[in-house]
Amino acid sequence: MKHTYVYDHYYKYAEITEVLQKYAADYPELTELASIGQTPEGRQQWMLKVTNKATGTFEEKPALYVEGNLHAGEVTGSMTVMYLLDTILSNTDDEQMKYLLDHYTVYAVPRVSPDGSEYYLTTPDTVRSAPRLYPFSHAMPGLQRQDLDGDGVIRLMRVKTPYGAWKVSEKDPRVMTRRQPDDLFGEFYNVYDEGLLEDYDGINIEAAPAPFGNDFNRNYPIGWQTEDQQKGSGDYPLSNPETKANADFLLAHPNVCAVVDMHTAGGQNLFTPGYKSAKQAIKQDIDLYRAMCKIAQQENGYPILNVYDDYMPQSAPQTCGGFDDFCHFALGIPAMTIECWDLAERSGLHPVYPPREDKSDEEKEDELCAMIKWVDENISPEHYMKWTEFDHPQLGKVELGGCDAKFVSQNPPTPYLEQEVAKHTRFMLRMIKMLPSLAIDTLKTTQLGEDVFKVEAIVGNIGYMPTYVFKEGLKSKRLKGVSLEMSGLEVLQGTVKADLGHLEGHGGLRASGWGISQSTGQAAPLRKKAEWVVRGKKGDAFEILCDSGKAGKTSIKGIL
Ligand SMILES: [Zn+2]
Repeated sequence: MKHTYVYDHYYKYAEITEVLQKYAADYPELTELASIGQTPEGRQQWMLKVTNKATGTFEEKPALYVEGNLHAGEVTGSMTVMYLLDTILSNTDDEQMKYLLDHYTVYAVPRVSPDGSEYYLTTPDTVRSAPRLYPFSHAMPGLQRQDLDGDGVIRLMRVKTPYGAWKVSEKDPRVMTRRQPDDLFGEFYNVYDEGLLEDYDGINIEAAPAPFGNDFNRNYPIGWQTEDQQKGSGDYPLSNPETKANADFLLAHPNVCAVVDMHTAGGQNLFTPGYKSAKQAIKQDIDLYRAMCKIAQQENGYPILNVYDDYMPQSAPQTCGGFDDFCHFALGIPAMTIECWDLAERSGLHPVYPPREDKSDEEKEDELCAMIKWVDENISPEHYMKWTEFDHPQLGKVELGGCDAKFVSQNPPTPYLEQEVAKHTRFMLRMIKMLPSLAIDTLKTTQLGEDVFKVEAIVGNIGYMPTYVFKEGLKSKRLKGVSLEMSGLEVLQGTVKADLGHLEGHGGLRASGWGISQSTGQAAPLRKKAEWVVRGKKGDAFEILCDSGKAGKTSIKGIL
């Protein structure tokens, strides 16, 4: 696949804006640049809509919604969305891409939180979602992260003290390992983030709460909890303009059939529910997730995990107010979360899920040694900084060391960026083909009298997903079924607009036999028929309009 842009760095807001504006200018027949909202710092939450407008509007086709940077620092997410757009728009001569553009819509929001990502990319600091004080309105006492030596990276800071909980590893002097229960003699340290102390009492060093404590992925209405139960959840559901913007967009666009939310890190294909067990969700919906995740896994190699049952640690099993749960339970559409980049796996470690909380100090020491070895061999031996003396204005002699975790563990180092985003793009381009897709496959007219005709039309769903997509969605009063409407002729018998209910997809077909038998059984129809008795003369033109909330609109013209 060809690409127009380079993926050897992370794009700041200005570059994302420039590239999206260029797409809109270069491909007016395929794209439209919109903003789903403006942030408190005045940036746009850009959305590029993509489809072949010649075959129908954006809203008339089943759509995939893709976004990045609901978590600001997980900038691999926005780069994946940019790479997806580049892949589509740089390969419009490819037959499969043409088909996708003719039949589907992609709504792509590279950066839900542009204020947060800009802060992340232009300062040494990290931020979960947005650089806005929350829940405290002022800086709290304690150690505040800061780049003290001016090298552009906030690393670790160790302070030698007889009260220390850490000691130097014998396996690698850069690694700190836990002081053992009977370790009384020797050199011990406490290890902190590089930073300065607010209201230092000269005795104790404690980390201050993160000043920018919002977590946008806990700010949605499903399973939402107050701050004391769920850190970062916000003052109330959708209290952040950024989260309200994507929720409003999705509510207003029922043609969105599926959502992919791009995050980092760890290398997982995650599916909801996150606030309760998958066993409490509808099995058919979970089966659909597994089919989606299977394709994702074929491309990215990552494990398939349910957020609640498999992914979250035992001590904190729930995610409350997650965006993906909002899509699943409020909108009735599947929402997958991909956690990009797997430093542990690349270091030869094989993470188990849910994460083990009983790892011994020695296991943790070995894991850290393995990851630093990967950094030495694959970035440079200098990248993981050796402990280096530094005169701290408050603490006296300390030592600074460690790596730039933002672009080693949270996001891939830039030489690994393109291969990471390419595999998720391949998945999304395959996943689009699962969406329900309607076609009127049969149109038949029969003359009954001099000016009376019977018209029959059969509509079918050639997609894998049913036209309702998710069983959870059937609970929604907003979900429309498939209708066929006669236009251009007087209807004498039959409803002008025939409501046909829903059509299954080929994903609903099950093998009816065992072993060598490969015959399929069908639980519900993939095709349905409508018929009208109409008044007209031979040669009169008419049109059958097909409408479905999720699978879009189509039409066919006929002549009596
Ligand atoms: Zn995240």
